Amino acid sequence: MTTGRPLFNRRSFLRHSALAGTALALAGDASPVPAPADEWFERPMRWAQLTLVEDDPGTYDLNFWLDYFRRTHSDAACLSAGGCVAYYPTKIPLHYRSQWLGAGDAFGDLVAGCRKLNMVVIARTDPHAAHQDVCDRHPDWIAVNAEGQKIRHPVMPELWITCALGPYNFDFMTSVTKEIVTLYKVDGIFSNRWAGSGMCYCEHCRENFHAATGMDLPRTLNPHDRARRAYTGWREQRLFELWRLWDGEIRKLNPAACYIPNSGGGATSDLDMKTIGELAPTLVADRQARSGITPPWANGKNGKEYRSTMGQKPIAGLFSVGVEEPYRWKDSVQSAPEIRLWVLDGIANGLRPWFTKFAGSLNDRRWLPVVEDLYGWHYRNERYLRNVRPLARVGMVYSQQTARFYGGQQARQKVEDHTLGYYQALIEARIPFEMVHDRLLDVEHLDPFRVLIFPNIAALSVGQCAQIREYVHLGGSIVATHETSLYDEWGERRADFGLADLFGASFDGAIDARMQNSYLSLETDPATGKRHPLLAGLDDTGRIINGVSRVHTKTIGAYANPPLTLIPSYPDLPMEEVFPRIPKTDIPEVYVHEAGKGRVVYFPWDIDRTFWELLSVDHGKLLRNAVEWAANWPPPVTVTGPGVLDVTIWEQKGSMTVHLVNLTNPMMMKGPLREFIPAPPQKVIIRLAAGTKVKKVQLLVSGMTPRVQEANGSITLTIPSILDHEVIAIDL
Ligand SMILES: [Zn+2]
Repeated sequence: MTTGRPLFNRRSFLRHSALAGTALALAGDASPVPAPADEWFERPMRWAQLTLVEDDPGTYDLNFWLDYFRRTHSDAACLSAGGCVAYYPTKIPLHYRSQWLGAGDAFGDLVAGCRKLNMVVIARTDPHAAHQDVCDRHPDWIAVNAEGQKIRHPVMPELWITCALGPYNFDFMTSVTKEIVTLYKVDGIFSNRWAGSGMCYCEHCRENFHAATGMDLPRTLNPHDRARRAYTGWREQRLFELWRLWDGEIRKLNPAACYIPNSGGGATSDLDMKTIGELAPTLVADRQARSGITPPWANGKNGKEYRSTMGQKPIAGLFSVGVEEPYRWKDSVQSAPEIRLWVLDGIANGLRPWFTKFAGSLNDRRWLPVVEDLYGWHYRNERYLRNVRPLARVGMVYSQQTARFYGGQQARQKVEDHTLGYYQALIEARIPFEMVHDRLLDVEHLDPFRVLIFPNIAALSVGQCAQIREYVHLGGSIVATHETSLYDEWGERRADFGLADLFGASFDGAIDARMQNSYLSLETDPATGKRHPLLAGLDDTGRIINGVSRVHTKTIGAYANPPLTLIPSYPDLPMEEVFPRIPKTDIPEVYVHEAGKGRVVYFPWDIDRTFWELLSVDHGKLLRNAVEWAANWPPPVTVTGPGVLDVTIWEQKGSMTVHLVNLTNPMMMKGPLREFIPAPPQKVIIRLAAGTKVKKVQLLVSGMTPRVQEANGSITLTIPSILDHEVIAIDL
């Protein structure tokens, strides 16, 4: 069952599958670990994590927590076991036991209680810090800074930061891991802060890096430095080696268990997501809450990013109930609407909720009913939340290599801000979409998508460009911005775009980094007297503001009547001088083409990044129109009405759902949310695959059975009001 039309059929995939292997290898690939038949990973839908603090044993209320797990219908638990502090009677030398543990076994008591509730149980370890006796006995286990000094813990100077890539993790923590699995037969080990705390210059790192590469450890962060590049790959290999070591040792003791590192994320995350997707049978997106001006859709973005390489393997969305700011009030509680919106946007984007509570004591109980209510709803509607796949037809590409080697220390501004801008535009346009990893541009992975968006995906290899060309050749469409494909996979600038032929544009040798007071002229085709559909909604003006940065381009071949042309910068002071010196040029600021069966839109300027900075409504329309024109096909769901909604569409066994998360409410300046303001009525049209029979339509939040009109392969209904979210469930 699908809505809309996937791009390729199975046959075309098989015909072209030879291309799938052509992507570059950034760092070595991993072979997937075979999972045993009785794997538990698919089962948990709601996670509970109790992160014990050292004085919890003997003082916290065990039965309260077990009862809370029961009341919330949590079916899996993550419980603190060892590493920095052991919460069980460990026999491993130097494995520091909680001073409050006494003769007890806090971890073991929790495990036993959770098992009685039939919960999956995984143990948490944290290897990032060690006590003085570890440093005394094994000084080489401690991380070393560039000046050659051992690194004290920044918060607790009596502790030491450990080296993640040497014997502390590979030997000592392997023993700890094995002891926990042996004693408690847990279903897995989850490690927090296992990948190190920045660059380490200890003797092991120096020797191992030299042995692997013949180079000394880099002393620069410049991504063009040879040693820095080599180090990036070596560190990644070393951590994947550690992952495989721990996973293998765990499975030797309990074949149904696995290692679950706290890792993964988007373009700026540090381990290759393609390899992570191959290694992990399940994973946790650890994004605890928003801070500053993080938009509330950011939790859903995590889900999309993890899913891009995890496929339909289960992904939990780890949220905390506290205020998530640099001052780290880890013992705090957020407002109920703030917690709810964050979790609901994760659920709408396929995350299984995972709450984490730091410390067994309760200084502020206000979060308890909030999570209980969320989890209760989730439990009652579980069958509609076990998604088989998303039905989005738009994919937005993200690129870790672009962040690493083109963005470097400026990856946030040069790379991620483009993504955030396009993401916000798609949210405002209510276009369901997925994230796509740039190392998975093969025909099979791209099959669901009619449009791929490249928000300044600057660094692309020749092989990746060939895959994109093939995608368009097969009928796919692309929307690209700014410096997309102007650099190779190492961030080295090319003479011309790797995708120049698709863009119909060549690089003209210059990039304006910061334009002031520049505009865009909206053009009419003199032959037809009409404007291009890209300019829909801008009929009442002849010009709009330009972006901030612009790649100079020249057209390849003939390109008549570009819809947008450049009005170059002119003085913005003194006011007497503010008039255009060159009122009209023929310099295209967008390239629109039909390329075989596909369509291509290329903006040479930073439209998406500027949109993130300014949120100009005109730029938002261009970003939306570009995707709609490129798609050339009705979207699987259309939602009309006032407000800002995150719209996602999913298929389950025997049903489909549309999630509508009401984001209209955020404070006018930034979070956190105080209250929900209901969204007014929304008209929803859901397009069904040919031959689909609708048995029943219901609203899973309000509990209403809506009036539904069915015609022309679509159903139409009106949602009278959405407080925080609504889910339309369609039984098929
Ligand atoms: Zn080291």
